[in-house]
Amino acid sequence: MSTDSWSRRTFLGSSAALFSQLLPASAEEKTASEPLPFRNPNIYRFQIGEIEAFSISDGHSLIRPAIGMMYPEADRPQMAESLEKHYERNDGIPLYVNILVLRKGKEVAIFDSGFGKVKNNNFGWFFAALESIGIKKTDVTAAFLSHAHVDHIGGFTIDNAITFPNAAFYVTQEELDFWFSKEPDFSKSKRDKKELPGLTKDNRNRFEILKPVTNILKDGSSVWNGDIKLELAPGHTAGHAIFRISSAGQSLLHIMDLAHHHLLMFENVGWTIAFDHDPELAVITRKKVYAQANVEKTRLYGFHLPWPALGHLAEVKKDTYTWIPERFSWGS
Ligand SMILES: [Zn+2]
Repeated sequence: MSTDSWSRRTFLGSSAALFSQLLPASAEEKTASEPLPFRNPNIYRFQIGEIEAFSISDGHSLIRPAIGMMYPEADRPQMAESLEKHYERNDGIPLYVNILVLRKGKEVAIFDSGFGKVKNNNFGWFFAALESIGIKKTDVTAAFLSHAHVDHIGGFTIDNAITFPNAAFYVTQEELDFWFSKEPDFSKSKRDKKELPGLTKDNRNRFEILKPVTNILKDGSSVWNGDIKLELAPGHTAGHAIFRISSAGQSLLHIMDLAHHHLLMFENVGWTIAFDHDPELAVITRKKVYAQANVEKTRLYGFHLPWPALGHLAEVKKDTYTWIPERFSWGS
């Protein structure tokens, strides 16, 4: 250690001195003269047993007309009251798009793809984030699809080509059957019917492109030597899937689109959103999954919950739950 660096450390004080010991001299110079960089957080790293996991945000939006998207209509005053009581905004439903990425040795799995290539800067952050953690598109070995809505399937094909060329693509037969049926049945859905022909056409095109790498997973079947298990959770779509990940005594249940809002869709499991293809079945599925997660104290992850979207649910009374997010941590 030179006299020069010693005197400077003494001048900076003891905590700065400790800090400087962790950095090479050039880094110390930089730290002293420049403000700390703004760390834009859209990648959160955590562990599931021996599996390294990342929660990556593909973006965010506010869906309008807020609780005008929620059903049953008769309960909207109660929904509004609940939002107000919890200091939540009521001018739109905040839509998070979170992508779970797992890495174990040379295997990399992604769970849905985000919107893919979009003109809107609010979305499409996933690919750059993936690259920034050293994962190239060619490194992805398993690509799981929960269901074929554009925020989930959009990124699996770009410009009519497969985005992750070395990945096996996993989907349920029920989901394929729905989109390829002569006339996909949206009769129970509250969705804007005008969107549906375009949505169906786009999905058929995407599935055709993905056909050479497509693998069908049945309810309860698993990959990665049992580490990743698919469970059919129908209602949001016919083949909507959730994923149970386990490793070395730890587990995570990725509930995908069972919840689009961290308050409304826990406070009353009977409240649904317009995107559900079959709201009644979506409620039956949600009740079943929530009840089990409550009893088993399952650690959960949600595609549309506030990022990084890890947490637990707790039962308040029958069919009423609270979402309890995990505290943000950098590893300890
Ligand atoms: Zn979704």
